[in-house]
Amino acid sequence: MSNVPTPLAPPTRVLLGPGPSTTDPRVLAALALPTVGHLDPYFLRVMDEVRDMSRVVFGTKNELTFPMSGTGSAGMETCLVNLIERGDRVLVGKNGVFGTRMAEVARRAGAEVTVAEGEWGRALTPQAFRDAAGGAQFKLLCVVHAETSTGARTEIAPLRAVADELGAMLLVDCVTSVGGLPVELDAWGVDAAYSGTQKCLSCPPGLSPVSFSARGQEVLAARKTPVQSWYLDLSLIANYWGSERAYHHTAPINMLYGLHEALRLVLDEGLEARFARHATNARALCTGLEAMGLELVVPADERLAPLTAVRVPDGIDEAAVRANLLAEHDLEIGGGLGPLAGKVWRIGLMGASSKRANVELCLTALSSALAVQGFAPRGDAIAASAAAYA
Ligand SMILES: *Cc1c(COP(=O)(O)O)cnc(C)c1O
Repeated sequence: MSNVPTPLAPPTRVLLGPGPSTTDPRVLAALALPTVGHLDPYFLRVMDEVRDMSRVVFGTKNELTFPMSGTGSAGMETCLVNLIERGDRVLVGKNGVFGTRMAEVARRAGAEVTVAEGEWGRALTPQAFRDAAGGAQFKLLCVVHAETSTGARTEIAPLRAVADELGAMLLVDCVTSVGGLPVELDAWGVDAAYSGTQKCLSCPPGLSPVSFSARGQEVLAARKTPVQSWYLDLSLIANYWGSERAYHHTAPINMLYGLHEALRLVLDEGLEARFARHATNARALCTGLEAMGLELVVPADERLAPLTAVRVPDGIDEAAVRANLLAEHDLEIGGGLGPLAGKVWRIGLMGASSKRANVELCLTALSSALAVQGFAPRGDAIAASAAAYA
């Protein structure tokens, strides 16, 4: 049996990219607990607790709230294929990769899609949606709260009024905001939302919490045609997560243990304290990067705490910098996507990854990786970040 591979021994990386973030050791330990059956009374209790804790991080009392099996994109697809029937008019905000993806999924689900275009690296304004709508009515207004491809944050609360003008439900991508930024589905009047486990919840990728308002649930119940995807059909899956506990697909038991622990850690820290931690570390990182002479992509008041995009200086080979960080410092940061490919780095400070030691590691390692290519930092990044903490 000499051709059997050796057991895995992955390197321990510091994950400061756009996701996954570093998994908390307590979450890794939960993933390794004994697997029980998906209808075991013990597991039903796990499900109930995951659902209750998911409601808290979403800021909602929505009955229909639970994690879908699959990554954040599965949550996106779940919301869109369940809410859309062929020919429905859907307005999608697009100022980065994930708005672009929502528009594509909506089109494939049979919607007539209108796009509200925004600049990559800026927030979307209510006016951008009004202008794109041109006075027409829509079934659904879709928007990304935290656009991880650029680091821009769009205010959701003002979009409720826009959705009302258009006769539309409001669907929000909260993949990078849940657990890192305030999310208030009920206060904002959101009808449907989805998130993911591997960003600010610091659980490995694999689950996507979703939530539907009473109005969203009414629209699901009133569908004239069956949901095109059997696997993502909420009318079937809700029977498993609801009181019937009817088999649909086998829940990923151990992933739900992991999410249970990740949500417990969020609630134990406290939402306010967690948001403050994300904000403080992001501010210190930005201060340090600017002290080095680097330019940030997003204006200060539209920036995301969990993700900072920074421009690659002229003449620097951005991929070589990332390779150096990985090889020399076990540190992962992200490159740019779409029109920003090759032009920016994306530095995530999400969940367990958001801590002062990581901010300092990132600033030190980036300075030395840039020095290899002859870039001389303008000032002392560590001193500047320390001043931001003071
Ligand atoms: C990561 C991400 C997604 C997709 O999640 P996957 O887990 O990669 O499928 C969707 N939206 C946003 C804003 C994201 O950051």
